[in-house]
Amino acid sequence: MDPIEYQGNIERFLCEKATINHTPINAILELTPLCNMNCDMCFVRLGPEEMRQKGRLRTTEEWISLGKEMCDAGTLFVLLTGGEPLLYPGFRETYTALKKMGMILTVNTNGTLINEEWADFFAKHTPRRINITLYGKDNRTYQKLCHYPEGFQKTIKAIRLLRERDVDVKINGSITPENIEDLDDLFSIVERMGVVWKFDTYMYPASREREAKFDDRSRLTADDAAAARVKLIEKREGNENFSSFARNFIKQGEAAPGDYIAPTVKCRAGRSSFVINWQGMMRPCVMLSSPEEAVFNIGFIAAWKRIVEKFGTIRLSPKCNACTMREVCQTCAACAKLETGSYGDMPGYMCQYTEQTLKLMKEALAGKQTIENNE
Ligand code: SF4
Ligand code: SF4
Ligand code: SF4
Repeated sequence: MDPIEYQGNIERFLCEKATINHTPINAILELTPLCNMNCDMCFVRLGPEEMRQKGRLRTTEEWISLGKEMCDAGTLFVLLTGGEPLLYPGFRETYTALKKMGMILTVNTNGTLINEEWADFFAKHTPRRINITLYGKDNRTYQKLCHYPEGFQKTIKAIRLLRERDVDVKINGSITPENIEDLDDLFSIVERMGVVWKFDTYMYPASREREAKFDDRSRLTADDAAAARVKLIEKREGNENFSSFARNFIKQGEAAPGDYIAPTVKCRAGRSSFVINWQGMMRPCVMLSSPEEAVFNIGFIAAWKRIVEKFGTIRLSPKCNACTMREVCQTCAACAKLETGSYGDMPGYMCQYTEQTLKLMKEALAGKQTIENNE
């Protein structure tokens, strides 16, 4: 999961170089765990009382001072998130200060708080992009999944307000048992709005600072998640491109076996990317609670060095490295750790999800070919 999207080859090159050199170019700052919604599958949200028991929000001055250290260390891309980041009292001040430092900013929000005033703010201080999560096709699904019935109307209004002001918006979505029935309507909504979208069907079973363990009922079974994934791919590729995409996917999913060795982490986590949560704990990845370092106590550079060192010792499953489906599988360090309790084990849910995706891709391709032959 790459939370930050790059624009063009220069940015990609910069990030790849940063990953080789262990330069912390990508930051995710979780300004607050508070949120006005309460989604079933959330792994971050805390209520005000829960938050007080676990710590305090860091001040605007602390974030801005940390931003300066990040800037000096080479951080360029910053994702501001939460909880709901617009609830952080010093959001505007922190945001504008980071922007003045030259950071390229993206904001993750549920959108429900964005009114004319917020939209004007973002129009004046333009972010790279605002990612808005759309949880369902109407207020009924928002009630079921997010326990916030008026969420749908508010989110749609936010998207409209931002787009009227030429602020770049992307719609994200998480497909769960509560909104799987909405999939076709969600497609119609994003198509009508003409926005970039990305819906995920795999849910990491993370619980982070929350007391309650991840509830498996809040995600789809691996088979249902795979079916939704294939449907999403069909939608994204359209009739013209699906067959060639599927053929390529199937070919990649039947690679020659790799070496039976335990590899190091392959993504940017702890190599050029880091997260700092609302308490001020630096971690390599948003899904994980460890390793972690208290960045406001020991300083940015010291915390980053320790994260690089600790996460660099992690070894992933040799079975995954040898697996013929590895090129189309979404497994990663966080997936293995959260699914199995160990970085080095093979996550069974992910195996089933990948295997079923491949099977359904083959069936969908065969179906398309039969239709084409009959035309
Ligand atoms: S470990 Fe997994 S979830 Fe974390 S950043 Fe890497 S790919 Fe994304
Ligand atoms: S909107 Fe996001 S942060 Fe808030 S409860 Fe839902 S998933 Fe969690
Ligand atoms: S998680 Fe399963 S399918 Fe994915 S690479 Fe590992 S063994 Fe293969």
